Amino acid sequence: MREQTDVVIIGSGFGGAIPALRLAEAGKRVIVLERGKKYTEKDFEQRWDIKYLMNLYAVYYNDDLNVFFRTCRMLGGGSVLYSGAMLRPPSEVFEYRDSSGYKVWPDEVTRETLDPYFERVERMMEVRQATWDEVPRSGAVFAMLLDNIGRTCDRGRFPYVNCRQCGFCEAGCIFGAKRHLGYNYIPAAQALGAEFRTECEALYIKHELGRYVVEYRTRENQLREIECDVCVVAANAIETPALLLRSRQYLRNLSDQVGRNFHNNGDVAFFIELPEGFADFTVYKGRTNAVMITYDYWDEHRITIHTGCQPPVIFAALELCPVNEDMIPFGLQYKHYLKEIYLNRLIGCLAIGLVDGEGRIYAGPNGRPVIYFPLTESLHAYIQRVVNEVAREIAEGNGGRVLYTMKKGFEHGDAHPLASVRMGDDPAKAPCTPYGELRGYPGIFITDGSSIPGSTGVNPALAIAGNAERIADYIVKNY
Ligand SMILES: Cc1cc2nc3c(=O)[nH]c(=O)nc-3n(C[C@H](O)[C@H](O)[C@H](O)COP(=O)(O)OP(=O)(O)OC[C@H]3O[C@@H](n4cnc5c(N)ncnc54)[C@H](O)[C@@H]3O)c2cc1C
Ligand code: SF4
Repeated sequence: MREQTDVVIIGSGFGGAIPALRLAEAGKRVIVLERGKKYTEKDFEQRWDIKYLMNLYAVYYNDDLNVFFRTCRMLGGGSVLYSGAMLRPPSEVFEYRDSSGYKVWPDEVTRETLDPYFERVERMMEVRQATWDEVPRSGAVFAMLLDNIGRTCDRGRFPYVNCRQCGFCEAGCIFGAKRHLGYNYIPAAQALGAEFRTECEALYIKHELGRYVVEYRTRENQLREIECDVCVVAANAIETPALLLRSRQYLRNLSDQVGRNFHNNGDVAFFIELPEGFADFTVYKGRTNAVMITYDYWDEHRITIHTGCQPPVIFAALELCPVNEDMIPFGLQYKHYLKEIYLNRLIGCLAIGLVDGEGRIYAGPNGRPVIYFPLTESLHAYIQRVVNEVAREIAEGNGGRVLYTMKKGFEHGDAHPLASVRMGDDPAKAPCTPYGELRGYPGIFITDGSSIPGSTGVNPALAIAGNAERIADYIVKNY
């Protein structure tokens, strides 16, 4: 017999775990389907071995293979392996208009309307500003680079308690210092009766007689169905649109905007090669996000920059090249070059700015996501601006040089997919209402990174989490 419940939630990251708690608090029967396993600190290892990492992450290449996206596949989603930066988007983000003049954020979603929800998340997750003692040396070197050219920066905010600065945040924290969702929202929801089913993958959502049916595969490879009044989809900005699109046969009124408007939060990774003897530090020591962030370029360029220490495995895969110069030699010579500069002459930076959503997620022939992420003229111009007007100022002002990953014109790795089922005021341009409800399907809500319409100006986790709190509030009041 088909199982019945009030609410099915697909995915247990920020977009899923937060509504699970709020709907359980409101007395709803909640079932959360999560395709990944449950990991505790005892299951993690301090290594960057690819085989180990591939168990933890889902990796997607775009269709011409020049960029890959990483998401986490486990109970708690991205919160478990992320680098912990929990930053509120600057107010100007919400005013962004794309190149056609369309204001991408709904009028009622502003920094002011989101602030109370950010506060809730910060309280639940123990987010606080890092102390000066918690700034790793690579963060201090980043601060020095900015100070030397008359620019400012400050310490970011993290949900870390007794962090030992071991640097394995993205391989899983074995000390339990990172307060991910498995320490707060998930156990609180479970205590109120919400059921989290791990290794259960949602395959289709069907609309039948005003209710929704979610078909899923269990860890024993069996197919099951659950019928519900409300279905919250939070499988991340790559999987959520793919799930909706492969369900189109059962959701015939699906907006043609599902899967469109996809972007990467305006992330541009670049590296600064420091002159010999510039500073005494070891790049991979200290937490992966090295705490310091600068807003000094915000007014002029709408860009923030933060720094971090990337694991050696990421460097080995990158093809770094200096701006306006030939590629650094490939193969063994490249390895030797990296070996020489990696440890204490290379600072990794991530610029985040405001971009249009010009990518698209399709459901491939097997229903799996296919990513189209073209290097459009406007994206190319934006990257050039980041590199030539911002990165070079910092690097060359300190006697160093910028290296970036532009083999085919774009960077190689990204962890901030957004906007593929975006909220918006205009039904012709946004498949979701300003409350994340899928147009044409009352009772289906999109609460993950897919519904975040624009770039967030900073790392997006807090924007996703705060928005999920806001949408959960709406569901509780209206269903
Ligand atoms: C290495 C790394 C470092 C990062 N660092 C930061 C940072 O410091 N600060 C920041 O703000 N952001 C950071 N991010 C980004 C941040 O983690 C994501 O933006 C955020 O986790 C996205 O939340 P979400 O709810 O959209 O999706 P996720 O957190 O990805 O959750 C989606 C969940 O759905 C599950 N799922 C997928 N498909 C199905 C299905 N069909 N059925 C059932 N379950 C399914 C997945 O397994 C996953 O657990 C980082 C990301 C990565 C990968
Ligand atoms: S740096 Fe801190 S939060 Fe990151 S893995 Fe080590 S102890 Fe955990």
